[in-house]
Amino acid sequence: MSNGPTYGFDTLQIHAGARPDPATGARQTPIYQTTAYVFRDADHAAALFNLQEVGYIYSRLTNPTVAVLQERVATLEGGVGAVCCSSGHAAQIMALFPLMGPGCNVVASTRLYGGTVTQFTQTIKRFGWSAKFVDTDDLDAVKAAIDDNTRAVFCESIANPGGYVTDIRALADIADAADIPVIVDNTSATPYLCRPIEQGATLVVHSTTKYLTGNGTVTGGCIVDSGKFDWSASDKFPSLSTPEPAYHGLKFHETFGPLAFTFHGIAVGLRDLGMTMNPQAAHYTLLGIETLSLRMQRHVENAEKIAAWLETDDRVEYVTYAGLPSSPYQERAKQHYPKGAGALFTFAVKGGYEACVKLVNALEIFSHVANLGDARSLIIHSASTTHRQLTAEQQEAAGASPNVVRVSIGIEDADDLIADLDQALAKACA
Ligand SMILES: *Cc1c(COP(=O)(O)O)cnc(C)c1O
Repeated sequence: MSNGPTYGFDTLQIHAGARPDPATGARQTPIYQTTAYVFRDADHAAALFNLQEVGYIYSRLTNPTVAVLQERVATLEGGVGAVCCSSGHAAQIMALFPLMGPGCNVVASTRLYGGTVTQFTQTIKRFGWSAKFVDTDDLDAVKAAIDDNTRAVFCESIANPGGYVTDIRALADIADAADIPVIVDNTSATPYLCRPIEQGATLVVHSTTKYLTGNGTVTGGCIVDSGKFDWSASDKFPSLSTPEPAYHGLKFHETFGPLAFTFHGIAVGLRDLGMTMNPQAAHYTLLGIETLSLRMQRHVENAEKIAAWLETDDRVEYVTYAGLPSSPYQERAKQHYPKGAGALFTFAVKGGYEACVKLVNALEIFSHVANLGDARSLIIHSASTTHRQLTAEQQEAAGASPNVVRVSIGIEDADDLIADLDQALAKACA
């Protein structure tokens, strides 16, 4: 189908990017389990390799099943193009790769997925890149952190682990004034709850491992480009604005216009970094996305009920859910996330570390896992797992104090989830 702007989200989440298979008429998107594609003739091959014609060469670069997913996520996010890759962490590196160079930095929110904090504080240093962490609610601090070597501002829409909601528009205004892009990790919100590009984001990254797939089966990532950034306006982004030696001096921005970032992501990023999504993973994620809006509605409905129940419970000290009337983020959530504040939040248990450990052991429906965004309800006690190497101060700053657990509320019966938390809290606080 053509992706007319008139189609609604529920229609696009099923149809965008897909068409009956031209070879067989197969209605569901086939898994193109192939490494390579036969060229029509030598001229066709040459045109493909010169980027003069778009087509399939080799599945490290492009694959028809993955291409459907790319078009679907780009459409749902309101972007011009997308590149899928092997994981959410791969998507983050792939998003930064064309922007950064040795000595460059990214200004990043302090409230991020734990793995992203590690990637940004440790691993990117090996490339000569660095991250400056700031509280993105403090807009003056964001402005002050941006310097001549800053190449992007990075945040999560609904942020880990507390489920706080970010004012993307405010960050975009600051980044626009500094001529740098804003990258939003929209994993926890999904395009159903938040469309960062409409709020001024340049690039959106996803761990498709989470809600987009929705059932904890495959890892994957995606980068969506708004197509709105002028990469040639300054000399800050030479990978996109100056001649590329590996393609006979082609300039990506001049040649591909709004699709420059997407083409570069495939033609240079996937070609040379090789963080490719496989067609099986794309297939599972396409199946998941077909029901995204239905699942997100239930995730939010359940999270609202459970957060409200926990907040009134004597054994619970506080609940961080931005969808609660008591949350300091409630107004921002209503304004920027009108369909709900997601299904990820933390709560503090009065019995402290010991009680949290007992709680995760006693739960029967909730699974104790290092994951989020599954149809199943998940819980993790960060202080004894993902954040156990950190000092007490670092745990506190990360929202992972010893008395805090993080939950990812699934789509089971809310009453069953509440009963499960009730019995486990009874054991934890006995
Ligand atoms: C899981 C996650 C990531 C990393 O994604 P992987 O697919 O595990 O590599 C990044 N950001 C957020 C918000 C996540 O939840």
